[in-house]
Amino acid sequence: MKPTFHHRSINDPFDDPCVYVRVLREKRALLFDLGYTNRLKPNDIQKITDVFVTHTHIDHFIGFDSLLRALLRRETPLRIFGPSNITECIEGKLRGYTWNLIKEYPLKIEVFGINENHISHVGFYAENCFNRTDYGEKPFDGTLLKEEYLEVKAARLTHQIPCLCFSLKEDFHINIDKAALNRLALPVGPWLSEFKRAVRENATDNTEFKISGRIYTKKELIEIAMITEGQKISYVVDSSIDEENIRKIITLVKDSDTLYCEAYFLEEDRERAIERHHLTAKTAGMIAREAGVKNLVVMHFSPKYRECPDAPEKEAIMEYNRE
Ligand SMILES: [Zn+2]
Ligand SMILES: [Zn+2]
Repeated sequence: MKPTFHHRSINDPFDDPCVYVRVLREKRALLFDLGYTNRLKPNDIQKITDVFVTHTHIDHFIGFDSLLRALLRRETPLRIFGPSNITECIEGKLRGYTWNLIKEYPLKIEVFGINENHISHVGFYAENCFNRTDYGEKPFDGTLLKEEYLEVKAARLTHQIPCLCFSLKEDFHINIDKAALNRLALPVGPWLSEFKRAVRENATDNTEFKISGRIYTKKELIEIAMITEGQKISYVVDSSIDEENIRKIITLVKDSDTLYCEAYFLEEDRERAIERHHLTAKTAGMIAREAGVKNLVVMHFSPKYRECPDAPEKEAIMEYNRE
């Protein structure tokens, strides 16, 4: 199965974090955090439709200005998701510039601020000199985006302030089993897309399909559908090292193909991790193991480990591999 997402951390683990995800089938990209973004090529930036910001500490949000600069003339709107104060933070950044000559620019920024139970929606449009338009709130049930092929969920953690973590999940794939098709002596044809849609939408078993003049039910045809799970990628940084956070993270990142996780401190500096509201490398490894993650990528290391840059990964992987 060809992967749908190409994902990478664009920086080294001591830089301000930023993970870029290309959604190959849609020619678009998503971004987790707005840290140091200068390594992104102009072409990569133009593809970004949605940005997921964990919190607005400067190391996770400083890239906003470069993104704005690059996208000012873009037709496609930009959506930004973050904790509830993101609206004020973006408004403050936008107010830092003068916008009298941009009324013919197309850019629309839609900002979604997440609190305990609600998502607020505020628009900032170039045509309106980036003055805010409030669209009110809707209930938040953990899902930020739900589209035909993908879904993004978030959990709210504490990092002295609220901090979000995210998971991106591709919908399952439906392939047609050619051998089963031959067994049933069925021809290929447009009915297959209808059938796939019915499976995806979980239509009732007696849904009918007309094939070469005969009627078949979904139940009769179901053996030709081969279902494979989609890709799952998760992103977790800046979480206080407490049981409730760890439980929420494990639930959110369960069975991820790849987990990007902070390893800010080593276990020997656990006291410091508690004080600074960060995870340790060992905890990152434990979370990945408990959640059945297939591939753990540790990132966002404290500058104090510059002298031993391999230590955080080593500690995390050792814990991850523990029986
Ligand atoms: Zn932080
Ligand atoms: Zn940070």
